[in-house]
Amino acid sequence: MHERFSAVFEPEQILADENMSAHTTFRVGGAADIFVEIDSTAALAKALAILKSEGLTRLNRDFYILGNGSNLLVSDAGLRGVVLHLSKQFSHIRVEGTTLVCEAGATLAAIAHRACESSLAGFAFAAGIPGSLGGAIVMNAGAYGGEMKQVVKSVRLMTMDGEIIEKSAEEMHFSYRHSLVKERMSQSPLVVLEVTIALSEGCQDNIRAEMEELAEKRRAKQPLEYPSAGSTFKRPEGYFAGKLIDDAGLRGFSSGDAQVSEKHCGFVVNKGSATAADIHALILEVQRRVKASSGVALEPEVILLGDFE
Ligand SMILES: Cc1cc2nc3c(=O)[nH]c(=O)nc-3n(C[C@H](O)[C@H](O)[C@H](O)COP(=O)(O)OP(=O)(O)OC[C@H]3O[C@@H](n4cnc5c(N)ncnc54)[C@H](O)[C@@H]3O)c2cc1C
Repeated sequence: MHERFSAVFEPEQILADENMSAHTTFRVGGAADIFVEIDSTAALAKALAILKSEGLTRLNRDFYILGNGSNLLVSDAGLRGVVLHLSKQFSHIRVEGTTLVCEAGATLAAIAHRACESSLAGFAFAAGIPGSLGGAIVMNAGAYGGEMKQVVKSVRLMTMDGEIIEKSAEEMHFSYRHSLVKERMSQSPLVVLEVTIALSEGCQDNIRAEMEELAEKRRAKQPLEYPSAGSTFKRPEGYFAGKLIDDAGLRGFSSGDAQVSEKHCGFVVNKGSATAADIHALILEVQRRVKASSGVALEPEVILLGDFE
């Protein structure tokens, strides 16, 4: 497999046994067999063609798409197969009037700052979400009353055949932490290439002030001093995960070096040398105890990759 990628990609674009802890915000996870830096649409098409010809078409089993790794828990045993990482080179942002056309590797922070510089309002909510645009589309990422669904006009995607298709926001089936891309992960996967974001004219000073205010709120409420993947669990309808966890007496509860944050119970944090197994065990125990104390079944928002017992 390595040879097939070597024949098409530059040596520095292909890494063998690449440690995933370097590519996830939890800072845990074992090595991926093959890790390929994807810097363009053409490179992605070539990589998918190799995977398809080898019969490796099951996303999250035979191959993986990696954005900024800010919503992932990768197993200590690592990932068998191929990780396609949308690199920093795949992050071009173009301003066209009040719309932004952005490649999937662009970070939400970079897009928010570009929107602000261009006096375009409507994206400040996303400035502090530490993901790439591709990951944000998959997750319909959101914060402080905003979500991707509200600003996305259309999305350009690649199929496993290398075909480029365009979907309107409606066709993306966005709902709470959900999208068409998520729906199709196990069957006919799609890769986000480019997104057109519709914003409105605004006052640059006001947009900057809003971004600063939201950043301050995050610093005050979230344990940003420790590695994490943000909110570990989805918000159950009618509840807040953090409150349910707190009410179950789990503030500060730990498994190895994985801990329910003392500052924000909705976050599991890595206090230093947590393993993926520690984090996974803690997630299961929190689910068990919250179910016992409140009857509510918490569902992880974090995506688990690789083998967990
Ligand atoms: C401190 C902290 C705070 C956070 N706050 C928030 C918040 O306020 N709101 C929120 O919604 N989230 C939050 N998150 C979670 C996370 O940042 C988001 O879910 C983000 O959208 C994930 O983007 P990513 O690029 O890191 O995706 P990754 O974690 O790399 O991947 C997530 C999923 O998307 C898929 N994917 C990534 N790129 C593509 C692509 N181009 N095409 C197809 N599939 C792709 C991956 O295969 C994976 O299944 C937070 C995380 C942290 C660490």
